[in-house]
Amino acid sequence: MIKMFIESFKNMFQKPDTIKYPFEPSPPPKGRYRGTILYEESLCIFCDKCENVCPPGAILFEIVDYETNKREYNYNPYLCIYCGACVDECPKADEGCLVQDDTTTPVLGRELPKDKKLGYLVNRVENPKELEKAWDELEKRAKKSREEYAEFKKQQRLKKQREKKAAEAKKKAEEQKENTSSTNTENKPS
Ligand code: SF4
Ligand code: SF4
Repeated sequence: MIKMFIESFKNMFQKPDTIKYPFEPSPPPKGRYRGTILYEESLCIFCDKCENVCPPGAILFEIVDYETNKREYNYNPYLCIYCGACVDECPKADEGCLVQDDTTTPVLGRELPKDKKLGYLVNRVENPKELEKAWDELEKRAKKSREEYAEFKKQQRLKKQREKKAAEAKKKAEEQKENTSSTNTENKPS
């Protein structure tokens, strides 16, 4: 009885173990918590592995310059299922190119989270209500950019082949011309 009384008395001065959720955010569990994906463009080799492995398609690269093959990384934290597959697959993850943070993405409220490491689209869209529409449009643009880039590369290859053939034909014609003029010189009566 005395033991119980002492325990109750001690509890009166301790912090409660409970939290005031949903009025306070629920703290993430300690340890290897799977949170938001953060990206560092300067370390990326644009191998597309993260995009290809992502189950819900929450990572999308858009090719914005065909000459330089410049690609923009886009991530949708509200599509992401936080499986970590993209980080596991990224060959530059150890250097910090793709990292799974231990923070949760804030709920889709009045503002979207802004961070360069969340990719281009989230930082460009102002109104959270527009995010879904903007993502749908991005999906179409990204697909189109792949197709156009493949066509651009094909045309470049064909152009190179044509130039090579033209150079070979020119060289052959010059050699023939040289051979003809040397034969004419040899056959001239002295
Ligand atoms: S954590 Fe999973 S769902 Fe999220 S972006 Fe990476 S692969 Fe996609
Ligand atoms: S897997 Fe890594 S290196 Fe490859 S495109 Fe994705 S972020 Fe860049």
